[in-house]
Amino acid sequence: MFLSRSNSVNGKLNLGLMGGTFDPIHMGHLVTAEEARQQFDLDYVVFVPSGIPPHKEKEKISLPEHRFLMTSLAVMSNPHFFVSPFEIDCEGPTYTIDTVRHFSCGEREGSEVFFITGADAILEIFTWKDYEDLLRLCTFIAVSRPGYSLDRFRETLGSDCPEMKHKVHLLEIPALAVSSTFIRERVTLGKTIKYLTPEPVEQYIKKHGLYLSGG
Ligand code: NAP
Repeated sequence: MFLSRSNSVNGKLNLGLMGGTFDPIHMGHLVTAEEARQQFDLDYVVFVPSGIPPHKEKEKISLPEHRFLMTSLAVMSNPHFFVSPFEIDCEGPTYTIDTVRHFSCGEREGSEVFFITGADAILEIFTWKDYEDLLRLCTFIAVSRPGYSLDRFRETLGSDCPEMKHKVHLLEIPALAVSSTFIRERVTLGKTIKYLTPEPVEQYIKKHGLYLSGG
């Protein structure tokens, strides 16, 4: 695939998988991915927009094609960032375990996988499909935004499963004060989203009339 081993030691990659709905992607996500890349010495970060998340089948989410294209536009200027259509190409609900298995096999076997996503989502991990395998196969980077209670996160995680403490790293990102919800609401209200998301994404939202009706 697109990932070369040329700059990795012993041909092994440290691979970041950035999971989320990305409806839409914004500067907070990009800052997060870059910070994770540096702190965890990741060779690449692959953004994986969710297809139909199993826990959100009834929610109103933009079409996967829109979310994939916006994510592609947002990452194109960073040579360490890629976007995968793996989840949006799956039929039916998508599960993180299938994504992690996909990125842990074949020519990438032996690479270390880091799954990066919101801290709230990771607190629910015990409800995810095959979560024990997931914890064995990858390390989690739980990202929080300002105002999020890290103490509560540590307590909850530690009380449910003490070993989790070694498999989950917390990453606090001040730039995540921006959220996808905030952007959607601003578009619905006719407010500017300039500088909250890369310009090509802003143009894409305008061109396709996304988020105009709220919901
Ligand atoms: P979400 O609705 O997009 O995000 C939940 C929260 O986390 C939001 O506050 C969101 O902020 C933030 N967030 C999402 N992705 C982020 C990222 N990469 N970096 C930093 N913050 C992020 O996502 P979700 O539906 O909870 O799912 C998150 C990931 O977990 C997805 O990859 C999903 O497939 C996976 N998941 C898997 C299972 C399963 O396998 N059974 C179950 C649940 C979730 P913004 O709104 O600003 O993005």
